Amino acid sequence: MSKHILLLGAPGAGKGTQSKRLAAEFDLEHVTTGDALRANKDMDLSHMDTEFDTPRAYMEAGELVPDEVVNEIVVTALADADGFVLDGYPRNIEQAEFLSEITDLDAAVFLDVSEEELVDRLTGRRVCSECGASYHVEFAPPEEAGVCDECGGELTQRDDDTEETVRERLRVYYENTEPVVEHYRERGELVEVDGEGTPDEVFAELVAVVED
Ligand code: AMP
Repeated sequence: MSKHILLLGAPGAGKGTQSKRLAAEFDLEHVTTGDALRANKDMDLSHMDTEFDTPRAYMEAGELVPDEVVNEIVVTALADADGFVLDGYPRNIEQAEFLSEITDLDAAVFLDVSEEELVDRLTGRRVCSECGASYHVEFAPPEEAGVCDECGGELTQRDDDTEETVRERLRVYYENTEPVVEHYRERGELVEVDGEGTPDEVFAELVAVVED
């Protein structure tokens, strides 16, 4: 049976990397609002009553893109998916409530990583501009600096991985998204996984949780 998996965690906890691997392992759709928004950064929001006119402006400021924009992305993505790993959503209680109205979940998994580790991971992260593979200048460097091992593409830093924006993203996370983690914990639905092991160790734990 196709599974409905939610992966929760702060920016830099490893949600993207691990979601991709889980999706491949269990033949699920990887649904990620961050990637969807990056692919539609300049979508015109000026007809909406929003602070900024594009997703790009929110993302570069480290702020959350308005719920109505993100909810719409998730509705469309989930309608097309049988089983899924959801990554980067919900990021506030309103989104969590919306999600519970449109689908059920088999597991809500929280990847636990300390704030200090998150800052180090995010500011050193480099991403392939061609295939999206993720590296770290110190913890997981490519064989040749600036070049993707997988496809030879150019490695770049995400606009929102600069130190200033990282601090704001983490502030937004603790204010808006940590209550979402609490929400699933209070309902007895949360499974916690130590996110500070190696990517392979964390993946092995996640597989065990999903299989359970
Ligand atoms: P991510 O790749 O998940 O770290 O997301 C990058 C940025 O996209 C976030 O800092 C937000 O600006 C925006 N974003 C992604 N997912 C959401 C969401 N569920 N709600 C609001 N904004 C989001």
